[in-house]
This record gives sequence, structure tokens and C-alpha cells, in this order.
Amino acid sequence: MADYAKMLEAARDAVTLASGVCREVQQALDSVREITKDDKSPVTVADFASQAVVASVLTDALGEIVLVGEEDSKFLREPEHEAHLDAVVAAVNDALEGKSTDDVLRLIDIGAGDTHHAGFWTLDPIDGTKGFLRGQQYAIALAYVENGEPVVGAMGCPNLPTDFSKPLDEADPKGCVYEAIKGDGVFEIAGDTSPTRVRRNDVDEGSAISVCASVEKAHSNVSDTDRILEHIEQNSSHTTGEPARLDSQCKYAVTARGQADAYLRMPTRAGYVERIWDHAAGALVATEAGCFVTDIFGNALDFSQGRGLEKNKGIVCAPPRMHGLVIGAIDALGIKPA
Ligand code: AMP
Ligand code: MG
Repeated sequence: MADYAKMLEAARDAVTLASGVCREVQQALDSVREITKDDKSPVTVADFASQAVVASVLTDALGEIVLVGEEDSKFLREPEHEAHLDAVVAAVNDALEGKSTDDVLRLIDIGAGDTHHAGFWTLDPIDGTKGFLRGQQYAIALAYVENGEPVVGAMGCPNLPTDFSKPLDEADPKGCVYEAIKGDGVFEIAGDTSPTRVRRNDVDEGSAISVCASVEKAHSNVSDTDRILEHIEQNSSHTTGEPARLDSQCKYAVTARGQADAYLRMPTRAGYVERIWDHAAGALVATEAGCFVTDIFGNALDFSQGRGLEKNKGIVCAPPRMHGLVIGAIDALGIKPA
């Protein structure tokens, strides 16, 4: 029997340290661009450094692990990317001491594990790369998937304010971390405070409902989202407003803590398959706060299909009553991927 408490502690430590690394790289955006002669390089550097740090902390705490990470070291091993590699090694050594270039490459490649195991970790070292580059929301999302279901998860949200009065599109100086074990609830950690449980209420009859969605129009269909909200407004007691737009799995956290009533991810094109690391940690966080997390047809997310959610289309995350309203609207409107 896996020791979930020990795994959670390792996961929390890993994403907390990686969050710090990402924050440092973000604060040095211009100098990283200067060194690497590449506009998008800060996210590349932070991505690789974050994956190396998470792999290091997990293996130090837990021994040998299977880690399915979004990144591998191929890019960094190419001679023309030496400046990137140097920047990654420097970023890793800000958090962990004495890591050589070979150590860092080896750590990144721990993330080349495959999904053909009863249990494996999955990591998005920086989810929401566009948000990272804009200085807005992004997440370090780590979960342990067992028999097709996330059971332990930690999600670092380095720019996410915990105070609802603060704007979501601005970077909070402290950020927060969410952690969950299946069946034991989800907890928020802000700064040095001890974890506080996150639970959300369902939507009340007649209330104004708010949803959240991607900033990037290519990642979630804006007009389908608008049609769903219009349908709910016309066919229920609820009023609706403009969706809150933010990058990354922070959307799951924002829905889990009741700041939004749903996270909608409507497919933009037929062939796109959602990646497991884009949802495993966030879905567990939201589920443990009392949300249903399914695809747009109401089917449970199936994490047993390799690196993609091959059996699912899009995402609907919301507390039960709200979830029913959204799935009902999708059904009534006949929305399906093109
Ligand atoms: P978001 O922060 O909501 O914009 O989502 C970011 C994630 O969207 C990235 O990690 C990508 O893996 C994923 N992504 C890329 N292309 C698509 C697409 N066509 N539809 C949905 N998600 C996508
Ligand atoms: Mg991602």
C-alpha cells in the first residue's frame, strides 16, 4: 500500500521549491532573454529547471519513481542550445546545491517515464506558458495517478492571490500551493501559514454565476462558452456574466475555492487530445473541494489511456448543481467537437 501522506509531503516540497525557481526566472526575464538570444527562452529555461527540481526532490524523498513529465532533455543536449543549458543549470543550482550539467540532464530525463505502470507521477513543470511570459497565472502541476485516477496531487500557483479582492490577472507576490489526497480533502497553503481546508458551496437558486476559461482562444471555444451561459440564463433562475480569463490549472483552484462557479474548457478542434499533466493535479484539487470534473459529455476523466485523455473531450468542472446546468446546456445545444 502506497504511503500517500509521505508522497504528498514530497510533492508539496517539490512544487514549492520549483515555484521558487520559476519565480526567480520570471524576475530575470530580460537577462535570460539576453543570454539565450531568444524571446521565449525564459519559459523554456524555467520549464526544464522546474522539471529537474521536482524530479530531484521526489527521488530524494521516495527513491526510484516513475515520472511522466512534459519535457525531456533532447533540446538542451543540442550544441546550439548550450546557453539555454547553462541558464537551466544555474536556475537549478539556485534551489539545489552542487548539481553538475550532467546531473541536471539526468534529472530532467527522470521525467521520461511511461504510463504503463499501475502508478506513476505526472508533471507539467510550467502549465500556462503564455501566462508565465505575460507575468500572469501559471502552475507547477504534479500528481500521482493510480489505476487511471489521480490520488495525490500538489499544485504550485506562484502568482495566484488567495485574497478574492485581488485581480486574477496580476501577479501576487506570494502565490499559493494546493495539495490533496483522494478522499481526504484539499488544502491551501499561502506563505508560511499552515494548510487550510478548501471546500465550496454549490450555486444557490437565482444567484449570479461566474465561470472561468482560458485566456488563449485556441485552447477553449469562446462562442460555445457564451452559448452555454446564454442558455443557462434563459432556462434557469441564474444570471451570468463575462467569464474570468486566466491561464493554467489555476482555473481548477479558482473553481475549487468558490471564486468561480465553473471551469469550462470547450474543444476548439476535433483532433485535440487533452494531456494528462494539464489536468491530473487540478482535477484532484477541484474534486476534493466538492466539484464534479468530467468532459463535456459528463463522462469521468480517464487517466488510464497513456499521455492523453483519449476517451474524453474538453472539460467541465463545477459543483454538482452547476455541473448539471452546464452539461444540460451542452446537451440541449447539441455542442460537440467539430
Ligand atoms: P490554458 O492555460 O487553459 O490556455 O491551457 C494551457 C494548455 O493548453 C497547454 O498546457 C497545452 O497543453 C494546452 N493546449 C494546447 N493546444 C490546445 C488546444 N488546441 N485545445 C486545448 N488545449 C490546448
Ligand atoms: Mg500545460
